[in-house]
Amino acid sequence: MRVAVLSDIHANLVALDAVLAAAGPVDAIWHLGDVVGYGPDPDGVVERLRGLGAIGVAGNHDLAAAGGNQIDWFNPEARAAMEWTRGRISATTRSWLAGLPGRHVAGRFSLVHGSERDPVWEYVTSVPVARASLAVLPTQLGLHGHTHVPMAWAERDGRVEAISPGSGSTFALTDSRALLNPGSVGQPRDGDPTASFLVIDDAAGVCTWHRVAYDIGVVQAAMRDAGLPQRLADRLSAGL
Ligand code: ZN
Repeated sequence: MRVAVLSDIHANLVALDAVLAAAGPVDAIWHLGDVVGYGPDPDGVVERLRGLGAIGVAGNHDLAAAGGNQIDWFNPEARAAMEWTRGRISATTRSWLAGLPGRHVAGRFSLVHGSERDPVWEYVTSVPVARASLAVLPTQLGLHGHTHVPMAWAERDGRVEAISPGSGSTFALTDSRALLNPGSVGQPRDGDPTASFLVIDDAAGVCTWHRVAYDIGVVQAAMRDAGLPQRLADRLSAGL
């Protein structure tokens, strides 16, 4: 089974379509939340994922867009974009977002947005936090997003190793436990503005990180036309 794992698409349909084209034929699409927020096309992204039968979990932006009080913790720019998103999305998009679970288990994979111990909010950015998540991971392998930075946290001989994968990096799906972060499709923050995603080939026992360029200028123009905060458009070029 070949699975494309996408996270933090953030209403960036141009990036999502570039990723889907680059991923090629897959048996399933899994998303790790923050489908909407920041970007200019929330309905388009949700419609695409629904049409493809994507399975996934809720991020903090998805819950806020569906009407949740998560918006109270957003910084001013994220909040402005979320208020725009709330006012724009269709009833169909809102109910699809509201129906996303906090966790989804598929075979030997657990899907969350943030971390295993706090599926919505916690950022896995250090070995101690990764270790705490691995301690409560209900399956062998955990998939999470939220940081917008591709990473792997692998348990080896009782130690937790942090791995920063580049485009084309692979990770062998052996019997050891690990947390895998595909990076962000729609708003990467690792200094590389290209869209980031992960492809799992379960039969071959390997997963691979990929980066793909997309037309950032088109998305920035759409954000400007929508009146979304300028800094949110600018950061797409920097990948930060
Ligand atoms: Zn996000």
